[in-house]
Amino acid sequence: MPSSNIVLTNVRIFDGSQLTEPTSIAFNGGVIVPPDALPGTETVDCGGATLLPGLFDAHVHLLFPDDLVKLAAHGVTTALDMACWPPERVDSFRGHTPDIRSAGTPAIGGGGNHARMPGMPHDAILSNPGQAEHFVAQRVAEGADYIKVVIEGDLLSQATIDAVVTAGKARGRLTVAHASSVDAYRRAVQANADVITHAPRDGVLDTDIVAQMVQQQQVVVPTLAMMEAVIKGLAPAGQDYAFSRDSVTALHAAGVPILAGTDAFSGPAPLPNPVSHGSSIHRELELLVEAGLSEAAALRSATDLVAQQFNLTDRGALTPGLRADAILVDGDPLADIRATRNIRRIWASGVSVTSN
Ligand SMILES: [Zn+2]
Repeated sequence: MPSSNIVLTNVRIFDGSQLTEPTSIAFNGGVIVPPDALPGTETVDCGGATLLPGLFDAHVHLLFPDDLVKLAAHGVTTALDMACWPPERVDSFRGHTPDIRSAGTPAIGGGGNHARMPGMPHDAILSNPGQAEHFVAQRVAEGADYIKVVIEGDLLSQATIDAVVTAGKARGRLTVAHASSVDAYRRAVQANADVITHAPRDGVLDTDIVAQMVQQQQVVVPTLAMMEAVIKGLAPAGQDYAFSRDSVTALHAAGVPILAGTDAFSGPAPLPNPVSHGSSIHRELELLVEAGLSEAAALRSATDLVAQQFNLTDRGALTPGLRADAILVDGDPLADIRATRNIRRIWASGVSVTSN
């Protein structure tokens, strides 16, 4: 599908901290260009509406083609899959909208919930650190964009977690650790995984661990939408959503970059109210604001901060030369973050997407 050449006029643009006065912006050949450089074919008067960069969801799981349709329809133009198999399935999702990246098969320990997931490949299950190098080499050969390790209790030894992170970094890949308890966070911090995803549901991270994360420049994708859904749906003993929220408050206050991700998953899950693709990113933004991020910081957590941390430097802001990924919304999300739901138009690489 050819990308359209389009000029948007009378539009207020989110520049990373505030909205500009009404101005013009243009897309040509799939990238953002200055409006004066374009012999425009289509002009859209936006009536003072707000233009945001296309949203990232920094933690999804892809299972069906419809997952992509839902993500795109809610303004997600880049989705970071955090475990999908087999590699042929991952490949089938590449080259569409949203643009995806994937961890492929995750490293897990035997015997836990993840090992029981349908079709989990045998080579996902590690029992000793000596297997880490082969595990990472396999993922790299399959085209995995980053390496995911699932930390759940002591299903993986610390030495094995460390070995996976070390092997991933040695191959130039970002390493992402799943951790939804204080103990799992401690292990992920000890291993110095680049990215930690989920937030503890059994306690608040203490100042020592947060300080170490700052020092190690670790990044967090807390998936508050999923933490909220787990607590509401399953009410596990000893767990509370407030622990997740307060951990994010502490991390953000200390300067740890927080990225917006949802853990959206459309497969069989024991949750009565699953986290749906697309709509959940807007819930995540609301929960991040509730946890203490400013509206601008929340928007950046779903746009340029993800681009920066995952080295997707061709996108994430409404700047000439970058991919023309953008959403036009009614209202001012800097005054009320819920305005991101009021989507009027979506463009991915300059191509108009049907909104929800
Ligand atoms: Zn996940």
